Amino acid sequence: MKSVHIKNSKEEFTIGKIVCVGRNYAEHAKELGNEIPDKPVIFLKPASAVIHSGEKIIHPDYGNELHHEVELVLLIGETIKNTNIAQSEKAIIGYGVGLDMTLRDVQNELKKKGNPWTLAKCFDTSAVISGFVLKKDYQLKDDEKLELKVNGAVKQSDSLKSMIFNPAEIVEYISSIMTLEKGDLIFTGTPAGVSRVNRGDKLEAKLGEIAELVCSVI
Ligand code: MG
Repeated sequence: MKSVHIKNSKEEFTIGKIVCVGRNYAEHAKELGNEIPDKPVIFLKPASAVIHSGEKIIHPDYGNELHHEVELVLLIGETIKNTNIAQSEKAIIGYGVGLDMTLRDVQNELKKKGNPWTLAKCFDTSAVISGFVLKKDYQLKDDEKLELKVNGAVKQSDSLKSMIFNPAEIVEYISSIMTLEKGDLIFTGTPAGVSRVNRGDKLEAKLGEIAELVCSVI
């Protein structure tokens, strides 16, 4: 079982499910030729896909365009179902930064056929996470900055202000579809600037000054 590492706390969170939001930044939806959604687009990743900062992303051999997607990741702290905005906000217990690694060429083929994105999104090492900060230790700012560098060059840089759906809205929506439980993670979508990475590349991601991760691709 995979777990979340919490900064300044020994509390254990075993990762349950990982719910991911697609197309939550208008500029990113546009860069992939997608429409801006009126409800969050959601999909799942298995907990077995998780690696932590310092570990290696293994490039699958059945795809050629492995893309980085840097995202704010929410840690859920309690069981919720059909919540309102206030309860949704309260259920978010911590924040981290993550990479939703995606085989874009495989995803494009799956989209064309109307098939699920599993092969493009759920392979081992496709969910990279930082250590998490508990909300009681840090209040996330609305304009917190997300940044991703590849080999030292900035590829993605945006503010959480550019999100179409904010964290509480995302949690409220997901909880109307499925029960969320302690240890579940929510990847909240990526800003524009996604690009291909190759074996040997070094990726560094940051959420403001509160969370960071470093990993390389093999
Ligand atoms: Mg994503």
